[in-house]
Amino acid sequence: MTITEVSPTAQNESPTKFLWLDITRKCQLECAHCYNSSGPEGDHGSMSQEDWFTLLDQAADAGVSAVQLIGGEVTMHPHGKEIAAHALGLGLQVEVYSNLVHIAPEWWTLLQHEGASLATSYYSASAREHNTMTRRPSHGRTRANIVRALKLGIPLRVGIVSNDKERAAEAEAELRAIGVQRIGIDHIRPYGRGAAEPSPDTSGLCGNCGDGCASIGPNGQVAPCVFSTWMEIGNVQQAPLAAILSGDKMIQATAAIRGDVTMAKCQPDCQPHCVPNNPCDPRCEPNAACRPGTPPSDCQPRN
Ligand code: SF4
Repeated sequence: MTITEVSPTAQNESPTKFLWLDITRKCQLECAHCYNSSGPEGDHGSMSQEDWFTLLDQAADAGVSAVQLIGGEVTMHPHGKEIAAHALGLGLQVEVYSNLVHIAPEWWTLLQHEGASLATSYYSASAREHNTMTRRPSHGRTRANIVRALKLGIPLRVGIVSNDKERAAEAEAELRAIGVQRIGIDHIRPYGRGAAEPSPDTSGLCGNCGDGCASIGPNGQVAPCVFSTWMEIGNVQQAPLAAILSGDKMIQATAAIRGDVTMAKCQPDCQPHCVPNNPCDPRCEPNAACRPGTPPSDCQPRN
């Protein structure tokens, strides 16, 4: 199926600047916390290469300036490189979120292109603990490819995912010792395999979902962010991206998320939308914990 062409009048209606291209559910790993339950049995969905190209064309026309390729392991997608290259060709910033288990030579070349950057997750300085999380002996490969990315001068961001503050601090110290400068720390998000309950809710979100950003899934489904995919607001295989992003469903979804998150995390007398506008009140749980990943920021979409 081909993505519907966007009309000229609709192209400028969306204020969205950043998109997650959540292109696959396939991954070599099977992490215990994976927010979308990706793994070896996952697939690449129904979006063709041409669909992703058309989506990117629409996104650029609508004012999007940055995308992140995420999944699943995007380097396992048969058209991942072409999608990233198309986005770079449109002048977009492109962050590739990879587990860094195996990076083919062509990917290393692409990642050295101006506008490209790399991000990965890291779970512990201890190989045993890291591998317990990924359920594969992946620590050595990921660490070696972090070192290689630094040597090649590729802009790199590492998200440490741990509910143990001491372990996270050890991992951060190790990463800083090998030269990683952009490091974020986040807890395990209650989605996918990271969820204790099968039915997701908004309490694990930050409240910024859909605010200048949106996620496109492997079947073309659009959601306010990569964590809130059960709140589908449209499908780019059925409607133009700009119309979806500026539509009533997006407005309703983001309002519902903000309302729920503000109620759950803010003080009763706090100003409206406190969490999305953090920091507004030091008593409130800071939304800094959720920075779901834009290349210009220190966000951590994988977590
Ligand atoms: S968290 Fe990332 S590396 Fe782990 S299974 Fe999910 S997509 Fe793969």
